[in-house]
Amino acid sequence: MKELQIKKNENQILAQDLKEASTRVEIIKEKSDGLKEHNRKLQKELQIKKNENQILAQDLKEASTRVEMLHQEIFYVGAKEIEKVKLVKKIVCSKKVSIFHCKDCKEKGNDYIYCPQSIINISDKKEKEEKIKEYQGLFETYQKQEEERNEEPIFDEEIFNQILAKLDITYNSEKVEMEK
Ligand SMILES: [Zn+2]
Repeated sequence: MKELQIKKNENQILAQDLKEASTRVEIIKEKSDGLKEHNRKLQKELQIKKNENQILAQDLKEASTRVEMLHQEIFYVGAKEIEKVKLVKKIVCSKKVSIFHCKDCKEKGNDYIYCPQSIINISDKKEKEEKIKEYQGLFETYQKQEEERNEEPIFDEEIFNQILAKLDITYNSEKVEMEK
């Protein structure tokens, strides 16, 4: 009888322990779920950051490709310009009057044989001079027009009197005939 009571008590204690243990398991499980959820969120954020990095890396690559293309284009245009000058023009200038020569120009006797860059420089200057001439021409034409516009009509008294006399004759034709 006493033993049975002891067993009962032990069982009760065990049942209590079991209950506490299962409560702790529940709490741990909740915590674990929370951690799992948090981990999922972090993974998601990491993926987003990775994608953003990829896009940025792509942008950077495209930008540097564009810069490279631009460099090539500038180089190509410059090279073409120089090649054009080489093919088309040869400018020889007397040393006495030359102002566009540089260290790359060749010397030949009393002359400079202009290098491509010097030819480009002199061509630019000629172009500018032609523009200036063109503007000067336009300005002179404009000035002339203004002068013509502002010219006062010259009053010729002799002609005026002649006209007046003719008018007088017309108006007083009877008088004229009477006087005759
Ligand atoms: Zn030169």
